[in-house]
Amino acid sequence: MGQHGAVRENPSTMSTVPEIPSHPPATRRVHDAERHPRLARELATLAAMFAINCRELHGDRVGLCDSCAALLVYATRRLDRCVFGDNKPTCANCTVHCYSAEKREDVRAVMRYAGPRMMWRHPVLAVRHVLDGRRPAPALPGHSR
Ligand code: SF4
Ligand SMILES: [Zn+2]
Repeated sequence: MGQHGAVRENPSTMSTVPEIPSHPPATRRVHDAERHPRLARELATLAAMFAINCRELHGDRVGLCDSCAALLVYATRRLDRCVFGDNKPTCANCTVHCYSAEKREDVRAVMRYAGPRMMWRHPVLAVRHVLDGRRPAPALPGHSR
């Protein structure tokens, strides 16, 4: 197990999610749940999905394999810099799609596997994610529709 193997308890959902690996330049907004609850919640959802996917498909371990950890770092940085900020749609409903094509497909594969399993493992996050997914993408900041 490498540096990404730590696990912490998430008090808001009483579920076990992996420690979010940090990678320079550091992400800030996604870790500030008080000021950016929507971004922080989305990161918790992402981390929970990655944990399910990695544990069940990449071997029985605590924490993430190097490949999943690297992808979660990438997704965390995209989330932290999301142009929509706390008004963001779910990435699936986004009109911008800031991910590279390859990474986008990789994350979609994680979600395809973990999405249906979330309702059992992390029902609060799962329901919130479904509700978030019903919100249309807002107009880009500085642009009118
Ligand atoms: S894909 Fe869209 S919603 Fe997701 S982080 Fe990038 S800009 Fe934001
Ligand atoms: Zn993995």
